[in-house]
Amino acid sequence: MSKREKIQIPIEEINQQKEIINRIRQRNDFDIQRTGEKKRAVVVTYGCQQNENDSERLRGMLRDMGYEFTEEKEEADLIIYNTCAVRENAELKVFGNVGALKHLKAKKPHMLIGLCGCMMQQEHVVKQIKKKYKHVDMVFGTHTLYRFPEVLDKAMNEAYTVIDILNTDGYIVEDIPIHREGSTKAWVSIMYGCNNFCSYCIVPYVRGRERSRNPQDIVSEIKQLVSEGYKEITLLGQNVNSYGKDLEKPMDFADLLKTVNEIDGIQRIRFMTSHPKDISDKLIQTMSECKNVCEQLHLPFQAGSNRVLHLMNRKYTKEKYLEIINKVKNAIPDIALTSDVIVGFPGETNEDFEDTLEVVRQVEFDSLFTFIYSPRKGTPAEKMKDVISMEEKQANFQKLLDMQNKISLKKNQQYLGKIVEVLVEGYSKTNAEILTGRTRTGKIVNFPGDDSMIGKLINIKIDNVQTWSLSGQVVKENF
Ligand code: SF4
Repeated sequence: MSKREKIQIPIEEINQQKEIINRIRQRNDFDIQRTGEKKRAVVVTYGCQQNENDSERLRGMLRDMGYEFTEEKEEADLIIYNTCAVRENAELKVFGNVGALKHLKAKKPHMLIGLCGCMMQQEHVVKQIKKKYKHVDMVFGTHTLYRFPEVLDKAMNEAYTVIDILNTDGYIVEDIPIHREGSTKAWVSIMYGCNNFCSYCIVPYVRGRERSRNPQDIVSEIKQLVSEGYKEITLLGQNVNSYGKDLEKPMDFADLLKTVNEIDGIQRIRFMTSHPKDISDKLIQTMSECKNVCEQLHLPFQAGSNRVLHLMNRKYTKEKYLEIINKVKNAIPDIALTSDVIVGFPGETNEDFEDTLEVVRQVEFDSLFTFIYSPRKGTPAEKMKDVISMEEKQANFQKLLDMQNKISLKKNQQYLGKIVEVLVEGYSKTNAEILTGRTRTGKIVNFPGDDSMIGKLINIKIDNVQTWSLSGQVVKENF
C-alpha cells in the first residue's frame, strides 16, 4: 500500500457512514411523523476557517439525517460545539458554555450534546470532560469527524459518553456531505495539518502532519461550486505554500493556483494561510498573472525581532520577511496585506517589541490580527519564561493597536472617490436597509441597495471611509 493510500480513507468506510446517516434519517422521519415536531440541531463553531469548514461537513451530515438548524439551544434536539485549541480564551469559553448546558439537559434529557474539534484532541481536555461534564453525550476529534454518524448513532442508544478520538498523523477524507453557509463564497480545504511546530502553536499536535488533497478532487469540488453559482473560493490550509509536497506526482501551490484560475466561470480566488518561509517567487509571479486571484495576501509575521522569531521557531528573519513583502508589492501594486502578530511572547523584551512596531510601520498592513501570547499546554513555549510583566505586554499591545488603527484608516482613505467591484453578500447585521460585501482586496463595503444585488458583483463609488470599512453608492453604469 502506498503512503497516499494509507492516509486516504477508503470510499467503503465513507459509504458505511452514509448507511448510518440513512438509518438515522429513517428514525428521525418516523419520529417527526409521529410527534409532528421537527428535529433541530445547533452547531456552534469556535476558531478558524478550517473549523468552519468542518462544521459545514457536520451540518451536511445532519441535514441528510433530517435535522433542521436553529440558533436557539432551548429548541434543539442536538447541540454540537466544534472547538478550538489555539487560544486559552476560546477553551475557557467552551468549558463555560458546556457547563451552562447542564440545566437544559436536566429539563430535556433526550437532547444530545456533542463536543468535537481541536480541543478534543488533547488528553487533558477529554479527562476533564469525563470527570466534570458528565452531561456530555459524545466526544470526537478532528481525525474522526467523518465517523460522526457512527458516534451519534451510539450516543442515541447508550447512556454513557461515547468517545472517539484517534491519535494519528491524520487522514484525507473525500465525499462527506456538506451544507455550506451562504451561496456566494465557499471555503475549499486543499490540505490538512502542519509540519512546522512553531513553538507556541498547538495545531500540529491536534491536526496532524501536512497532507494534500489530490488536485483532481479539489478541482472537481470547485467546478461543482461554480456550477451552483458560487463566485468566490478561498483555498484553505494551515500552510498552503507547502501544498503538494506529499503528492505522488508533485505539484506546488503556484501550479494549483494556476489550475484553479483556469476553471470556467470562477470569479475570485483567495487563499489562507501562508507561511513566509515557504512563499516562493514563482507563487508571487503566479498571483500577479492570474486574473481571478484577488489582490490580497495574509502573511503572518508574528514578531519583528529576529531573536523572538528564533524562539518561536519561525525559520525566517525580519529582513527576509520585509524582502518578501517588497517583492509582493512590486509584483502586485494594489495588494492588500494582512498579518498575525503575537505580543508578549516569552522572552520578548520591550526592545524586541520595537522591532515589531518597525515592521508594522514599514509594511503598512491593511489590517492586523493581534494577540497577547497565551500558553498552550504541551507546546515548547509553555515552559519559556517571561521577561516583562503582563502590564507591559498590555501597554505594548495597545501601542500596536493604536499604530495599526491609524495605518488602516490611512489605507482606506486611498479608496475615497474610487470605483470598486464588490461581491454583495447580503444585508448588514446592523442596518437592514444597507447591503454589505467585499472588494477584491477584502475590504468591507456598505451601501444602499436591494435584494436583486445579493450574490452579484456590483461597482460601488466610495464616498466615506472608516478604520474597518468603506461605504459608497451603486454606480449607475452597472445597469
Ligand atoms: S505554521 Fe506554525 S502557527 Fe501555523 S499552524 Fe503550523 S505550527 Fe501553527
